[in-house]
Amino acid sequence: MFWYKEVLPDVYHIEDSLGVCMTLLRGEREALLADAGFGLENVAAFAAELADRPVRLVLTHGHYDHVLGAGWFPEAEIFEEDLPLAREHEKRMWKERALQEAKLRGIDAGTETFSGGRAPVLKKLEEGTIRLGGLSARVIRCPGHTPGSAVLYVPERELLLTGDDWNPCTWLFFPEALPVTAYRENMRKLLALPFRHVLCPHRRALYDRSMLEAFVDGLTDQTLSDAVSVDTGEWLGIRTRQAEPAPEQCIVFDADKWECAPHCRT
Ligand SMILES: [Zn+2]
Repeated sequence: MFWYKEVLPDVYHIEDSLGVCMTLLRGEREALLADAGFGLENVAAFAAELADRPVRLVLTHGHYDHVLGAGWFPEAEIFEEDLPLAREHEKRMWKERALQEAKLRGIDAGTETFSGGRAPVLKKLEEGTIRLGGLSARVIRCPGHTPGSAVLYVPERELLLTGDDWNPCTWLFFPEALPVTAYRENMRKLLALPFRHVLCPHRRALYDRSMLEAFVDGLTDQTLSDAVSVDTGEWLGIRTRQAEPAPEQCIVFDADKWECAPHCRT
């Protein structure tokens, strides 16, 4: 079961049954789906029906909760830097993880889960503008959450799709994540874009620019120094710290990847 809402004209934010979101941009000629979700259900059929025109799939990065649904499509585009990650996250172990999550939520995954194990042809995503007819998406390389993270800017709707580079609680502690200072530099560059609205994969809401701005502006050395240790459960061995750059927003990062003053390396 998918939830969806047309948050701006011809912009649909969609949530899959395991709670991860993707975004469909419906142009006059073609539609673009940003991310594919966990893949328990046939997301390609759902997107095709909603779009009523051909759907091109772009993946913002290689994590399993964004790429497993790509199996329902013949092909998907992703930045080259995340190709190895996407191939790893298509493997059985990650599908089992998604199935466990489904079980916890009392969802019967059925037999057609993950399109019967088919994998899409992964093609290299290029920076530049994808024109859909009346609507376009500028593909921007923004390494941070992963080395090949992509952000999409839709000028006609003054909209930014951040991928997992930003959620109100942003995770930057996985082994493939960049150091928080390098991430911060890339996020600051995004603020040069004249967007007014923001969509992210782990919330349904359409946010105002001020939310992301407050987060990025709040990523100061002081805020990072004030970060407290946090237990991320299974990710043992990573010294995770949580900082609050803005009210009700957080970032969890790997303290070992941050060159900071000696007092915060205890
Ligand atoms: Zn991710």
